[in-house]
Amino acid sequence: MRVLVIGSGIGGAATAWHLAGRGAEVVVADAARPGTATEAGAGIVSPWTSRWEDALYPLAAAAGRYYREFTAELPDSSFEVVGGMVVSADETELAEAQERLTRRAADAPEAGEVRRLDPAQARELFPALAPELGAVHLSGAGRVDGHLLRRALLSAAEARGAKFVEGEVAFRADGTVASSSGSLEADSVVVAAGAWSRELLAPLGIDLPVTPHRGQISHFDLPETDTAAWPVVLPRSSHYLLAFGGGRVVAGATREAEAGFDYRVTAAGQREVLDNALTVAPGLADATLAETRVGFRPGTPDGLPILGLIRPGLAVSTGFGAGGLTNAPFAGKLVASVALGEDPGFDLSPFAPDRF
Ligand SMILES: Cc1cc2nc3c(=O)[nH]c(=O)nc-3n(C[C@H](O)[C@H](O)[C@H](O)COP(=O)(O)OP(=O)(O)OC[C@H]3O[C@@H](n4cnc5c(N)ncnc54)[C@H](O)[C@@H]3O)c2cc1C
Repeated sequence: MRVLVIGSGIGGAATAWHLAGRGAEVVVADAARPGTATEAGAGIVSPWTSRWEDALYPLAAAAGRYYREFTAELPDSSFEVVGGMVVSADETELAEAQERLTRRAADAPEAGEVRRLDPAQARELFPALAPELGAVHLSGAGRVDGHLLRRALLSAAEARGAKFVEGEVAFRADGTVASSSGSLEADSVVVAAGAWSRELLAPLGIDLPVTPHRGQISHFDLPETDTAAWPVVLPRSSHYLLAFGGGRVVAGATREAEAGFDYRVTAAGQREVLDNALTVAPGLADATLAETRVGFRPGTPDGLPILGLIRPGLAVSTGFGAGGLTNAPFAGKLVASVALGEDPGFDLSPFAPDRF
């Protein structure tokens, strides 16, 4: 079976890798659009600390469980378990976080251990942290570099026989797909075009309500500081910090649902990111501001991804919002099954494309 995957962010890359692993003849098309979310994503993999409840949490918890399994097959995935800290100066908030994490960790051994840290213990793990912040530490939280994970999945898909088409592709009204090198023939198409999925499907008369949620996210360098083992830091706000090796600290991010596809670092966005980062971690004040990235998260009206068949021969894997680096690898496995006409073995009804 020949399957065309449109989009090679984490959603498309993961789906293509799974499809190729099941013996499908896979072609992946990507336009390398500026603002590809996967290239800007922070890389926190910790569904257990999220405030996702209801329909999303079961998918995210399964995705968290799956992370170690699939990255074990990808030596260059960049995924590492570094632990995470929910931080606050408010005892009530910390107690709530401890209760939530303990409850979730009871059903998810991979979430690791939950323990309270006083401010001095929290600063031992993340030295730039504000001195008044205590923490609830979760040992199983992880981080991944979205760019490297995407590359690792695409290389592994290529090793399994996947082929690549560079540049824009578009549906024609009759359902065929046009590219600059002519029509792309396929038995089945998977739309994984992130925030651009709506415009991609429009010529078919399908209105999938995916909209861009802009995120501006800053990277700092702390010269001669070993940051490789610093944990993820999660304050009450939607802003957060995490670190990679080589003195790199990442501070995210704005959540701008009304900005459209405006690929700019704005003055207000930069101020918001810096204000939040330096409030939580004043020790970053002297760090080098290395770069600010912009990415368009694929948002949906109900905050849930869109996974499954639109009609026979046309599947979709998008709408991952703020959680795609965590959830898309597992979702890719499920959507690969659906595209091949198989039972995914997981209830995808909350994510059905026709629910809107
Ligand atoms: C600032 C920020 C921080 C984030 N932090 C985290 C985090 O810590 N943890 C987490 O789990 N998630 C995080 N996310 C969310 C995550 O990055 C996204 O949910 C995920 O990357 C979306 O992946 P995607 O493949 O659906 O879309 P994208 O990565 O946007 O990929 C879509 C692809 O489709 C291609 N495309 C579009 N139209 C066409 C066309 N017509 N023809 C060919 N190709 C096309 C584009 O070129 C692009 O490569 C963050 C996102 C942002 C922006």
